[in-house]
Amino acid sequence: MKDGIHPKYHEATVTCVTCGNTFKTGSTKEEIKVEICSECHPFYTGRQRSAERGGRVEKFKEKYNIK
Ligand SMILES: [Zn+2]
Repeated sequence: MKDGIHPKYHEATVTCVTCGNTFKTGSTKEEIKVEICSECHPFYTGRQRSAERGGRVEKFKEKYNIK
């Protein structure tokens, strides 16, 4: 049996596949991949995301005549 009953907690490297950011957290796994993190989550970086989707924002501005 592995230590399934008492999983070891150690420092895990979390890699964000969206922005490439890595950070450490405590986990039973050594490597964790996430699709979004605090660096690229729209809640934290609305500016960055809106830059990525600039085309859509520009269309929105045109539609509502926001300059
Ligand atoms: Zn990220």
